[in-house]
Amino acid sequence: MDSTNDTSKLTGRSASVVIIGGGIIGLTIARALSLRGVKDICLLERGSLGSESSFAAGGMLAPQAEADSRDEFFELLCQSRDLYPNFAASLKDESGIDIELDTTGTLYLAFSEHDQLEIDQRYEWQMQAGLPVEKLTAVEARMLEPGISHDVRGALRFPLDIQVENRRVLSALGNSIAQLGVKTLCGTNVESIETVRHSVKGVHTNDGFISCETIVIAAGAWSTFLNSSVKVEPVRGQMVCLTATPQLTRHVIYSARGYIIPRQDGRLLAGSTSERAGFTKEVTVGGVNTILSNALEIAPGISALGINDAWSGLRPKALDGLPVVGACGEIDGLIFATGHYRNGILLAPLTGELIAETIVEGVAPALLNPFTPDRFVAVDA
Ligand SMILES: Cc1cc2nc3c(=O)[nH]c(=O)nc-3n(C[C@H](O)[C@H](O)[C@H](O)COP(=O)(O)OP(=O)(O)OC[C@H]3O[C@@H](n4cnc5c(N)ncnc54)[C@H](O)[C@@H]3O)c2cc1C
Repeated sequence: MDSTNDTSKLTGRSASVVIIGGGIIGLTIARALSLRGVKDICLLERGSLGSESSFAAGGMLAPQAEADSRDEFFELLCQSRDLYPNFAASLKDESGIDIELDTTGTLYLAFSEHDQLEIDQRYEWQMQAGLPVEKLTAVEARMLEPGISHDVRGALRFPLDIQVENRRVLSALGNSIAQLGVKTLCGTNVESIETVRHSVKGVHTNDGFISCETIVIAAGAWSTFLNSSVKVEPVRGQMVCLTATPQLTRHVIYSARGYIIPRQDGRLLAGSTSERAGFTKEVTVGGVNTILSNALEIAPGISALGINDAWSGLRPKALDGLPVVGACGEIDGLIFATGHYRNGILLAPLTGELIAETIVEGVAPALLNPFTPDRFVAVDA
């Protein structure tokens, strides 16, 4: 991934916008701002670009598969998903990298009476809402995907819930912002944010001070800066990577307990866990055991596959589990783009557009109202 690893002293340097964090959210914001003509953007990443949660993710773009009602969050997820085909095409033009947008769709399997009740209810509301969803008998599901378990009772198919190779997205974004002239400083840790009379003045880094009028906090699970009321905590997710050539399934396949994701290069990802383990990114015996048990329930043929890799990442979760995206009313020039929790890959294209619009137009799009960082100030009061 292209980046400028410029570790010269930064003191005396200034930027129009400083973005803290080079995960998928910081990268898409840098790209969207640059495409709108903003100059002198500086993206600060303390490690290397796209090496944290965005790298660990599964790349599922699946708002419908787990949704039990239609609300503003669901609409946000669907809008971002629907941006992906154009996003993929533009990134290919800009970077030469194919992000492997796979539009086969997603299956959600039921194994117990309880699972079946859950998918029946999901089918009913989504069908009534006019969303594309198909109900399959066990026989139909197995005709579609012969590799799934004989114990399946029924399934839903979500034709618009798709997947992308998130690591390729990160490489493509890295190339794209380098072409666009975004200044990227890797190995630069933001230690604090300086404000004077409720306005942003700049950031203090391990390499010196950078002055700026706008700061975007896109630091994932590490986004709790200042004495701000926005608090973000890490929720660990482990993933096991198997080798499946030929692939065992074509669809992304969920159950109520886990999922499997077939990749074009013969990897099959199995996930995941949801753990409060602080900032430790271990892969544990218990985690791998749970993931593989759930994957075997979906497709018993997995038992013959080799284990290729395993990793974990820290999902950024705000107190209410919803994204925190928009300008902070308490401090002029401070913008949050964090808390994307289980949906940061899915929400990246729309987050980039909405934050760029907020900065360039000086007004937050109405779509962001439910996700404003100011909702926590009200809670605190
Ligand atoms: C196992 C797993 C599976 C997932 N599957 C999916 C999925 O299928 N679909 C989906 O949409 N989402 C998925 N997610 C969630 C998704 O990965 C996250 O929501 C998303 O990656 C968050 O992106 P981010 O850019 O905010 O955070 P990150 O990718 O974590 O990036 C934050 C960056 O900020 C940098 N940083 C932090 N502090 C500082 C500082 N002080 N100074 C400089 N840099 C700093 C970090 O080094 C890091 O690079 C999954 C997550 C996990 C763990």
